[in-house]
Amino acid sequence: MPRRSVSVTSAARLSACGLLFCAALVCRAESPFSFAATPGQLPKDVVPAAYRIDLVPDFQQLKFTGREEIDVDVRRATDVVTVNAVNLGIEKVALVGDGAALAAVSLDAQRQTATFRFAHALATGRHTLSIAFSGRIPATPEGIYYNDYRSAAGTGRMLVSQFEATDARRMFPGWDEPVFKATFELSVVLPADLTVVSNTPPTGSVPAGVNAGGIALKKTSFARTPRMSTYLLVLCAGHLNRIHDASSGTDVGVLAVEGKAEQGREALKAAVRILAYYNNYFGVPYPLPKLDLIAIPGNFAAGAMENWGGITFIDDALLVNPASSSESTRQLVFEIVAHEMAHQWSGDLVTMAWWNDVWLNEGFATWMAAKVADTLNPDWSVWLRQHASKELAMSADARSTAHPIQMLIADESQIMTAFDSISYQKGEAFLRMLEVYLGEDAFRDGMRRYMKAHAYSSATTADLWAALQAASGKPVAEIAAGFTEQPGIPLIRVAASCKSGNTVAVLKQERFSIGDPAAAALTWNVPVQVGVIGGAETARTILVGKSPATASFSGCGKPLKVNFGDTGYYRVQYDSAALGALTKLYPTLAPADRVDLLTDEWALVEAGRAQASDYLDLTRRLTAESTLVVWSDVVAKLYAIDDLARRAPVRTAFRRHALHLLRPAFDRVGWDARPQDTNQTVLLRATLIGALGRFGDAAVIAECKRRFVAFIANPASLAPNLRSPVLQTVGRYADQATFDQLRSLGKAASSTEDKLRFYYALANAQDAAFIEQNVKIALTDEISNGRVNRFLIQLAVQSNDPELVWKTVLAERAPIVVKLPAGRAAQMLAAIAQVSSDPAIARELLATPEAQASQGARYEAAKAAARIDEQNDFRKRLLPQLGQWLAAQ
Ligand SMILES: [Zn+2]
Repeated sequence: MPRRSVSVTSAARLSACGLLFCAALVCRAESPFSFAATPGQLPKDVVPAAYRIDLVPDFQQLKFTGREEIDVDVRRATDVVTVNAVNLGIEKVALVGDGAALAAVSLDAQRQTATFRFAHALATGRHTLSIAFSGRIPATPEGIYYNDYRSAAGTGRMLVSQFEATDARRMFPGWDEPVFKATFELSVVLPADLTVVSNTPPTGSVPAGVNAGGIALKKTSFARTPRMSTYLLVLCAGHLNRIHDASSGTDVGVLAVEGKAEQGREALKAAVRILAYYNNYFGVPYPLPKLDLIAIPGNFAAGAMENWGGITFIDDALLVNPASSSESTRQLVFEIVAHEMAHQWSGDLVTMAWWNDVWLNEGFATWMAAKVADTLNPDWSVWLRQHASKELAMSADARSTAHPIQMLIADESQIMTAFDSISYQKGEAFLRMLEVYLGEDAFRDGMRRYMKAHAYSSATTADLWAALQAASGKPVAEIAAGFTEQPGIPLIRVAASCKSGNTVAVLKQERFSIGDPAAAALTWNVPVQVGVIGGAETARTILVGKSPATASFSGCGKPLKVNFGDTGYYRVQYDSAALGALTKLYPTLAPADRVDLLTDEWALVEAGRAQASDYLDLTRRLTAESTLVVWSDVVAKLYAIDDLARRAPVRTAFRRHALHLLRPAFDRVGWDARPQDTNQTVLLRATLIGALGRFGDAAVIAECKRRFVAFIANPASLAPNLRSPVLQTVGRYADQATFDQLRSLGKAASSTEDKLRFYYALANAQDAAFIEQNVKIALTDEISNGRVNRFLIQLAVQSNDPELVWKTVLAERAPIVVKLPAGRAAQMLAAIAQVSSDPAIARELLATPEAQASQGARYEAAKAAARIDEQNDFRKRLLPQLGQWLAAQ
């Protein structure tokens, strides 16, 4: 699945909460894949080989009936067959042939299973089950659901499926765990004027009578899929258009609602290039005859989903409208297409055996997407900007609530908690460090071995290490274990000295943690990149283990840089002489080393290992800084400080300082596009306008208001790249008339990108009265079910009064919660609560029934509660330091 997990972080004594995430901090090293040893709920004595599913959805009544035949292999004689099913009626279960023996059916809603009990035991060998079932089609975006949408052509209805992680069981009874791979042959009866799409091309369609409303129906049948997991099945239908092209013999298409397919042209071009790259990289050609990218008009819980051969996207992550889409949307579309296409191999062809290894899917796809985006778009500075992803992971991983990349998953409720920054971004960052250590060619050769060995089957993390080790001859598992089987981040402490004309660095490691004095002492084997700035020798890799390591460079007087090139997953703390020498040369460092130095310094402040002044002094070096990744990171830290200073007297002076810091950088790029702009400048301009608007730059606010008025008169007058920062600034300082105007623009918008821009602008409105109005918007159908939680989280994040947002959402939540997929309500409440640093809110969160509903919910809530407590502590420590530093300026 796509990223954009709700960013929840942090610290609590989870062991005390009885949670299951490697309580002893060190997980047992995993074994190579074995079907018998793979965890899961379902018994393994009966396994599916082939499904033939005939589905009849009723588009008006929003329900469906279905029949399926499942060829199963009985591995041990049994009279009981247990499968997954949720919210399904199961009308009849029979054995095909064999006298059509009927089974008694019992459903277990709690375990999400159906058990079929036969009068006589099924002998070992092949049998076929025949099952008649039925269900409802909800508006909640999970399982098989519907999406009503508005377009320029009017309103429409689309049928959509979303099965990861455990929702195929909402459409048909089956073995809904990833290790039970089987083939699928699907047929669907729907109104004849709809386009129907699934994993494989249709083999044909025949008339199927008329429905109760007199509408002609057709039955569309799809070709048999390869062996695959249930969560990767897809079924979408609607008034869709398709554009397509060919790449290495594969028919690649983009489908969107009528009138919008052409907006998929950029994604289609990207997909054609990416497919050729991946065919070569993985060494196994894309195995299906076609690959469709399907735009879902708004109601989609994730960003996109990697269904094999039929990837679904919320439409603003796939469509690009040249008249209104921003550069940031264009790049995001490429990145998400690349991510989901990487899954066609890593995830779909080779699947993690169980959800404890979800990082194999997600960390890998995130890393691969960055790699292909960087290769095919060299001017995007992709790896440089992936620094922000690494920071996201490190922020979570430094806290006591961090879990290992390979985490224990005991029940369904915990699976979604694994779709987080640890699985995605730490996975990505670790793979990058490992690739640098092994070398690009050896790493790719290892991936080719892995794909070949496990195609159409399953794998564990151990299988990946074995393949990389065989290809590289290096001790991959020894290095990897520290980073994937235990939580946390190594801190490399650096002392430099001059000995006999050589610069000698002594590197020692300890665990880096924030707000976690009881953190267990862990060690890693860290491949550390170290070099001398402006030195004669190139940077080199030193493996730092339990004992201190030494690196020597000829000559003295030039500063050392550790984590050279920012390719490593660790923090660095220099002794004061080394830091001073490095800081002096700040403007001459490469951008990757500049941003890495800045973020490490801030992390040391958070950890209590440095003073706020150390970081703020470092930002004084930014006078000539023009790099997007540096400013994005600095702006993020300024926002964090500003949030902690809510209601504190020091905030006014701090905001003045922030404006003073940012204004010169903005003056250099100006308001409007210039011929010499790079795409980095374009994104930097938007970042700086947003930040200056938030910190109260009067001229920027006035100009945003002026441009908004012009935009109302003539939408083309506001460049797409400026729309988000201008609208957010206008929203932030809105009066009631402006608020109403933004809202009616949001209601009328027919594209998700436009619509969300207007509603996210509303979420910026600061007056307390708007909090109530915004929460009321969430009760309407103005924002799709798939995005309503994100809107409310934005409301908390942007507000001056996140405590009031929390209280209002808490009071009004009943009709909102029913719009969200299972488990998302707890995630949403946790994400809103943790914006606050008020411990009373942590207690309120923990007391909600949503937070106590499951193991997964308890984990999310405990993490948020710990984060609140930690922010409260950090705030008390930070604000006096901040006040002193500002007073001295
Ligand atoms: Zn993914």
